[in-house]
Amino acid sequence: MTGHFPPPPARGCSDTPVLKERGQHEVFCGLTGIIWLHRKMQDAFFLVVGSRTCAHLLQSAAGVMIFAEPRFATAILEETDLAGMADAQEELDRVVTQLLERRPDIRQLFLVGSCPSEVIKLDLGRAAERMSAQFAPRVRVLNYSGSGIETTFTQGEDACLAAMVPVLPDTDARELLMVGALPDVVEEQALGLLHDMGIDKVRVLPAHSVDDDYGIGANTVFALTQPFLGDTHAALIRRGARHIAAPFPFGEEGTTAWLSAIAAEFDVDAATFERVTAAPRARARKAVAQASEALRDRSVFFFPDSQLEIPLARFLTRECGMQAVEVGVPFLHRAIMSPDLDLLAEGPALSEGQDVDKQLARCRDARPDLTVCGLGLANPLEAEGMATKWAIELVFTPVHFYEQAGDLAGLFSRPLRRRGLLKLEAAE
Ligand code: SF4
Repeated sequence: MTGHFPPPPARGCSDTPVLKERGQHEVFCGLTGIIWLHRKMQDAFFLVVGSRTCAHLLQSAAGVMIFAEPRFATAILEETDLAGMADAQEELDRVVTQLLERRPDIRQLFLVGSCPSEVIKLDLGRAAERMSAQFAPRVRVLNYSGSGIETTFTQGEDACLAAMVPVLPDTDARELLMVGALPDVVEEQALGLLHDMGIDKVRVLPAHSVDDDYGIGANTVFALTQPFLGDTHAALIRRGARHIAAPFPFGEEGTTAWLSAIAAEFDVDAATFERVTAAPRARARKAVAQASEALRDRSVFFFPDSQLEIPLARFLTRECGMQAVEVGVPFLHRAIMSPDLDLLAEGPALSEGQDVDKQLARCRDARPDLTVCGLGLANPLEAEGMATKWAIELVFTPVHFYEQAGDLAGLFSRPLRRRGLLKLEAAE
C-alpha cells in the first residue's frame, strides 16, 4: 500500500492486554437488525415471537414502514399462553398459516425469537423445521434469536445470516461470497470494483431473493464486509468455505486493503489493481482530507456497542489523525479483527464487554473530544458538555468503500463542529 498513511505500526494492538468487563451493558437488542435486513431480502418476512415491548421497539424503530406493505410483524405471546406450551405452538402455527395464505409473495419466513422467558422456552428451531416441511417448496422457514440478553444490536444480522448458511446447497464452484447486508448502492459499487478487476463469480449473503440461491463448498472463499459476523463466519467455515482475512472496507486504506486481499486470492495483477482503484482512491483521499479537518489531533473514546469499533478506531487514527483513548467492543473475535488490530497503533486501552458505570468513570476521567456510544449514554454525556456520536447511526448510514469514505469521516466531525458552534454562540 502506498504513501500517505503512516506505515503499519511496529507494534499494533494485537498483543495489547484486553480489559474484560462482564457487568451491566446498555445496548439495543438484535431485533434492530430487522430494520435493515428486510430491505435487503425482498421476499423475506420477519415474524418476531415476542412481547408488546418487542412490538413497540420495532414499530418505533421502523416507524417509517407503517405506510408501506410491512414485511415484519410481532406474534405477541400473552402471559396466558404460558399455561401450556402446546397452546403457544398451536397459536404460532395458526398465525403463520394465516400470514402465508394472505401473503403469497413471502418466500422466506424468519421466526425471530426474543428474550421474554416464555419465548425462550419455545422451541422455535423445531417449529421452523416443521413449518418448512409443511410449506415447502414455496416457503423456507428459518429461525434465529434477536434477544437482547447478553447480545448487542448488530448480532441480529449475524444470527440471521448464520441461520441461512446451513440450508444453502453444496457446490464445488470456485466463487467469492461477499458477506454482510450493505445498502444496494454500496453493494453495487463493491461488485463493480471486483468486476473491473476481472472477478465476476461473486455471490452476496444475504441475497435479494431465495431465487438467487447459490451453493457453498470447499472452493468458496468469503470476505466479510461487517465486523460483527462472528457466527456467520463460523457457520461458513463449518461448510468448508475459506475466509479471506482483511481489514474492513472503511476509509481509503481499509477499502484498498480489503480489495487487495481479494485481488491476491484471485491473482489480479498489480497493474490491473492500480488501474481499477487509482481514481476512487484519489476521490476517497480528497473527501476524507476535507471531512476530517475537525478531527485532527482530537481524542476519541468508544463504548462497546456496534462491534464496528476496532476498524473505526483504525480509520480515525490512521486516516483522520485522531487519537484513540479507549476502544470498547462487545465481543472481540480475533479471527475477524486481527488485520485491523495489527494496523491500530499501540496506545488505546482495549476493553471487551461492558460494565457501564466503570466505563463511564473512565470516560469522564479522560474527557475525550468525542465519545462514540449508544443513545442511552449519549444524552447524559452531552449534558455534561461532551460531544458524542451515536453508534447506531453507523449501521443506518452508507459508510463502506471508497465513495462513502468522506461521509464516514463527516459522521464523526459533525458533532465536533456542532459543539464548536454552540461554544461560539455561548461566548457571543
Ligand atoms: S427482544 Fe428483549 S430487549 Fe428486544 S425488544 Fe424484545 S423484550 Fe426488549
